[in-house]
Amino acid sequence: MKKHPDPTHLSEKTRAIINGRSSKDHHGVVNTPVYRASTVLHPDVDAFERRHDPSNKNRVVYGLLGTPTTFDLETVVADLEGGYDAVLLPSGLAAISIALTTFLRPGDHLLIADTVYWPNRIFCDEYLTDLGVSVEYYDPLIGGDIKDLIRSTTKVIFLESPGSLTFEVQDIPAITAVAKAHGVITILDNTWATPVFFKSFAHGVDVSIHAATKYLCGHSDVMMGIIISAEHVSEKIRSTHRLFGQTAAPDDAYSTLRSTRTLITRLKSHEANALALVEWFLGRNEVLQVLHPALPNHPGHTFWKRDFLGASGLFGVILKPRPRQRLLDMVNGMKLFGIGASWGGFESLMIPAYPERHRTATQWKTDGQLLRIHAGLEEIDDLKSDLENGFVRLNK
Ligand SMILES: *Cc1c(COP(=O)(O)O)cnc(C)c1O
Repeated sequence: MKKHPDPTHLSEKTRAIINGRSSKDHHGVVNTPVYRASTVLHPDVDAFERRHDPSNKNRVVYGLLGTPTTFDLETVVADLEGGYDAVLLPSGLAAISIALTTFLRPGDHLLIADTVYWPNRIFCDEYLTDLGVSVEYYDPLIGGDIKDLIRSTTKVIFLESPGSLTFEVQDIPAITAVAKAHGVITILDNTWATPVFFKSFAHGVDVSIHAATKYLCGHSDVMMGIIISAEHVSEKIRSTHRLFGQTAAPDDAYSTLRSTRTLITRLKSHEANALALVEWFLGRNEVLQVLHPALPNHPGHTFWKRDFLGASGLFGVILKPRPRQRLLDMVNGMKLFGIGASWGGFESLMIPAYPERHRTATQWKTDGQLLRIHAGLEEIDDLKSDLENGFVRLNK
């Protein structure tokens, strides 16, 4: 008889609770403890010398190569997204740079969505370009027409959907189909949807990266990246991860594993609060436009509806033009919406955003001012009254 029921027969919600847990190995405690390790002691010289043999079932051989804390987190997230393997890194940006570096060499061509997370662009423009990689940005709404941009040297298509700040949704299956036909690897930044709301591998993606810093950690106190891979690229990813000496801190792996147990429940509340705020903003005269993939007039909405299982808590609101001081009075005076980078924690956030500064293949124009809103887990009526008061300051 098995200690745990066979996870494959259970729903995702249950698997997120039971996967990667082996209480009997840890004196019965529910959560896998924080293992701190560099040296791992082996029973004898023979065992030590065979520690890297594929036949060695004991994977705990050296701190850099993982501990039960990191392995259990990898197991849970890979299963949630339907991937084969997962590796942990010290930040989301490290997940991006290691994933790209795995597949790109001098002379190669990279196609990357114009709407990717801005520091990702800097890595491509300043590091990959120096390395001799040809970096080409494409319109995120290009869909299957991306075939016209493929060269003989194209090795990677990088996607992010919805796009940073403006939330355009990509036709991911159309792009991965073209990539497969040309032997090109696809890497998706799936941070917004998380493994819960978008199943990358069911849509033909080869590599999915996450800023676990955001919803997977969910409590605004951990920096972490995760690369989840399909089987055919998993060894390559693990090898680059090893070559660059990547690892994640034990406490951070513990915190993220603990948070992953409640990810589905948290995300549904973030989603509901965000949708309620979207409705509130749409009813206000001060608002020019709301940028949220669930809105029928949003670019790529039909792809979101077809491919995604939900929407997380991050979206955009464009306010009608107002003097800058009115906007500052509004944002600076918010009681429940904090001003700060990152998102995905339990708290609401609001910052002005300027996507036009980070676009080259497309143009982004508005007459108003874009605000990036993160809907936290507060009571929705409290959030709405904070916004009501904010709009009073905006209108003064
Ligand atoms: C925040 C973010 C990252 C980077 O994550 P860090 O952990 O802050 O390095 C990558 N991609 C997206 C879409 C993000 O929002």
